[in-house]
Amino acid sequence: MASYEKSAADHRRKWDREEYERLASERLKAEQLCQLDKNLKEPPVKRALLQPRDYRVDLESKLGKSMVITKTTPASQQGGYYCNVCDCVVKDSINFLDHINGKKHQRNLGMSMRVERSSLDQVKKRFEMNKRKQEDKKKEYDFEERMKELREEEEKQKAYRRERKRAGKKRADEDYEPGDPDMAAVMGFSGFGTGKK
Ligand SMILES: [Zn+2]
Repeated sequence: MASYEKSAADHRRKWDREEYERLASERLKAEQLCQLDKNLKEPPVKRALLQPRDYRVDLESKLGKSMVITKTTPASQQGGYYCNVCDCVVKDSINFLDHINGKKHQRNLGMSMRVERSSLDQVKKRFEMNKRKQEDKKKEYDFEERMKELREEEEKQKAYRRERKRAGKKRADEDYEPGDPDMAAVMGFSGFGTGKK
């Protein structure tokens, strides 16, 4: 090696300070240059704004189930809540929610914690959308309610017909089968009155 010399008198290594100082300063310079280059090339990391989740968080699929865990079980199957983004296991649902809403997790997803500022138009649109949603829900409810009533009515008719058959009474309007869908439709939707006493 060129960087140390052995003198004849003592065989300990004598480090060449000057040589090493030169090498060190060269390396320092190179590192500084490299850092400068990096700074020029990549400006501070710009992460995307915070986005809402587009999936449902599954907190319940493993509730009440038992699982055998050995030393070699991978972390994802060790029970608890596993985050595949950060490769970690969280012990309960509250902490899991905290985790996936947290800074570290969002950063691993490439997002910052900054939220987009909404414009007035966006807020108005959101209000409109929610209003429409509520109206739709009401309509749906009315429809469901109506269908339920119709079904109940049909059930009543069937029960009535069965009872009459058992009693052995024969009438002209007994020609239709209880299970005949066409007839049931006619009966169910047009003439509720006939089956009632
Ligand atoms: Zn995570």
